[in-house]
Amino acid sequence: MALCLKKRLPENNFYTEFNNTIRSFKTLLCFGLSQSSKKIWSLWGYMYNSPKKSHAERILLQTVESFFSENPAEAIKQYTLAIYISFSPCSKCCDSLIDFMRLHNRIHLDVRISKLYFPQNSLNQEGLKRLRLSGVSLRMMDRDDFSECFYLFVNQQKLFIPWCDLENETKKYSAALCYILNQVLVLEICYSHTYFFLGQWESSSKLGESR
Ligand SMILES: [Zn+2]
Repeated sequence: MALCLKKRLPENNFYTEFNNTIRSFKTLLCFGLSQSSKKIWSLWGYMYNSPKKSHAERILLQTVESFFSENPAEAIKQYTLAIYISFSPCSKCCDSLIDFMRLHNRIHLDVRISKLYFPQNSLNQEGLKRLRLSGVSLRMMDRDDFSECFYLFVNQQKLFIPWCDLENETKKYSAALCYILNQVLVLEICYSHTYFFLGQWESSSKLGESR
């Protein structure tokens, strides 16, 4: 099943898809939508991509759109959409997420990624840059993020068990993401000479150093 709402994710599925040392053919996405002033989720669940039909991000956006269509009073409130995803969004999904953010500018999007999806592909790189510049929080998952995802979506009675090489892979992926995102930030500094992008550069550098 591509979409499961308000149901716990089976433990095996979590470890198979989120393990950042294993390449998988699926994308698994867990999400929680909550008012920014509250911790309780209004909507949560998980989804897989539907092969040859729809990427997981598209299914997510349709699900959130339906929620706001059915609850129009909620559409005027500040929301946070937290996403834990096994693969980074492809170029087209980055654009879909950006379009969604423009349409729903009261939603803050927080994306945490286990593995980068074909990071050498220039279209995917450009997509991630656009996503970051649109104001989306974007970072690779570290041990604490995997543990949090396990606690929130899998089992609150058990402890997350880290796999071998988790930290090394997180460091490699974080360095790659930092490089991709900083490319555009350097260009923006050259062209715009604004302090805004300098601020982004500093925070990105700190992010890179800490991982
Ligand atoms: Zn996609």
